[in-house]
Amino acid sequence: MAGKEFVVLAEKFPMFSFAGEADLWLASINLPGKKKKLLLVQLRERRVTQFETRKIIGVGLDYTAEGNFSIVFNDLKLRSFASDAFAIGHELGHTFGFDLTRTPPSPMINHTSLDYSYYDERGRWKGCHLEDFCNAFAGQWLLRNGRALIVRACRNQYSTIHGYNVTIDPCSIIET
Ligand SMILES: [Zn+2]
Repeated sequence: MAGKEFVVLAEKFPMFSFAGEADLWLASINLPGKKKKLLLVQLRERRVTQFETRKIIGVGLDYTAEGNFSIVFNDLKLRSFASDAFAIGHELGHTFGFDLTRTPPSPMINHTSLDYSYYDERGRWKGCHLEDFCNAFAGQWLLRNGRALIVRACRNQYSTIHGYNVTIDPCSIIET
């Protein structure tokens, strides 16, 4: 079933040079014989230091004042813990399209470009490979961590990221 098995992103998305790095990073979350990498460590490695809710369309990445990443949740529509969990995974996927050695991380590709779009035989827009990559990444990320753990982490900070227009430090995520 889709999203329930491990896939090799580099094979699925050969157009993205960073897909292989994403595969390695995903594998590093739970290496055999090692303790699972904590969620907070994962976020730090991808330079996500802030969550925000804003009245925006869609979920997105923004820069913090310090030049790290903030994941901005869409507060215009009804959210759920499951959708927040997926959104974090999706935005972590986007971080692979940035050079994290720079401050702020600089985009290596145009994240809003239509270059990665694909069309049906009549030329109608069907989707975007980059967004598909981030969705596939999110599925893999949830699989590696255990979807339930991430959903619980989102629920644990319900009062801070859900439904309030506030900024919080992901350090307040409680993994239980
Ligand atoms: Zn996206």
